[in-house]
Amino acid sequence: KIRVRYAPSPTGLLHIGNARTALFNYLYARHHGGDFIIRIEDTDRKRHVEDGERSQLDNLRWLGMDWDESPETHERYRQSERLSLYQTYIDALLTSGHAYHSYKTEDEIAADREAQEAKGLPPVYISEYAGLSDAEVEAYIAERKAAGIEPTVRIKVPTDAIYKWHDIVKGDIEFEGKNLGGDWVIQKRDGYPTYNFAVVVDDHDMQISHVIRGDDHISNTPKQLMIYEALGWDVPEFGHMTLIINSETGKKLSKRDTNTLQFIEDYRKKGYLPEAVFNFISLLGWNPGGEKEIFSQAQLIELFDEKRLSKSPAAFDQKKLDWLDNDYIKNSELETIFDLATPFLKAADRFDDKSKHLVALYQPQLKSIDEIVPLTDLFYADFPELTDEAKEVLATETAPVVLKSFKEKLENLSEADYVKDNIFPLIKAVQKETGIKGKNLFMPIRIAVSGEMHGPELPDTIYLLGKAKAVSHLAQFID
Ligand code: GLU
Repeated sequence: KIRVRYAPSPTGLLHIGNARTALFNYLYARHHGGDFIIRIEDTDRKRHVEDGERSQLDNLRWLGMDWDESPETHERYRQSERLSLYQTYIDALLTSGHAYHSYKTEDEIAADREAQEAKGLPPVYISEYAGLSDAEVEAYIAERKAAGIEPTVRIKVPTDAIYKWHDIVKGDIEFEGKNLGGDWVIQKRDGYPTYNFAVVVDDHDMQISHVIRGDDHISNTPKQLMIYEALGWDVPEFGHMTLIINSETGKKLSKRDTNTLQFIEDYRKKGYLPEAVFNFISLLGWNPGGEKEIFSQAQLIELFDEKRLSKSPAAFDQKKLDWLDNDYIKNSELETIFDLATPFLKAADRFDDKSKHLVALYQPQLKSIDEIVPLTDLFYADFPELTDEAKEVLATETAPVVLKSFKEKLENLSEADYVKDNIFPLIKAVQKETGIKGKNLFMPIRIAVSGEMHGPELPDTIYLLGKAKAVSHLAQFID
């Protein structure tokens, strides 16, 4: 049975890269009718963030994912709760001679490194036992213990071994044992296992069939294969997804890139639609072929094919996200968008009986729901500063003629008749009266009323401004 997992370390907010890992595992499981499992890898206690786990799960849920097994429903799905299981296998490897206690101090290790560096050699762990007789080993260990030095447990790397696998994404990959940096730590001095060890015990114990993760883990895979081999376990399939680059800089996406939003929390706060974000992430390093880019979650599950995971880096393009989100917003029910916009309008103290109309007016152009606030400035804040281009339009000979005629007609409209459908006929009447038409007719009115050269339907805007405001805006530009 296909069983895949997303195994976050709760070290902070859910980043787009991790969300992508979760999402592809999710699609893979759902496409094949397999299980999607969430395991929390919290053995690095220094990097632990309070609430990191809850934030991960909440944000995955917000994106629309669900899972079959997780710490919420299953006991001991956090690595920190599985220490006795790791201990069992550490003991087994010590007994079988695959691993040993290592008493070298951090200072001694650093000194070895420096010496290697000075000679231009790559850093390789040098075992303290090399060339010692049994008696010497015993004496050395006794001396270290007496000095109160806690050991780590290291696994012996068979230097002539070759570790290879057929990667779902990248094809055949192989590493030589001698290039793995020497014997490596599987249990730290504090008794916690290291990532490369714990991950194998867990993937085996949870019967994970496919490990799909970011390619920053490629160099970990040979170490993990070594553990599978030492413990005599079957190896899962591996797939390493390419990294995500920033489409503007062409470099690896960095949390410091300010031209992008990268935390799922940020999308939530700005009111992106989860369906749009899900769709966007699904196209980071994958596509179903063809030109189409808008897919529902159900379609993605149906179409997902791991063979189409891209071998070249995925480009993160903020503009594409905005385009997608706009597309989802545009095509949503007004009711839905109104509900989502309501908290933003309330927070800005702009929630009133016009709100729904305003949301309807701007729905087609929203790239994220929070934009509703700046877009409604015209109705609640000071009249905007005109651009030079707009000023030029108002400086034409015909502009004052148009504005004057239109203002008169608006003023003559009774409050009761000041309804949307009565506005456009007034503009037409101005045309008839002045003989001015087209751009020369509409542009001065638009600019005088809204301060902008572009915007939503003019009659709607004029209606929503209300008679008093619309007239006073026009009056500003008439001597
Ligand atoms: N905890 C690891 C991470 O956050 C998971 C790596 C894996 O999937 O094996 O990157």
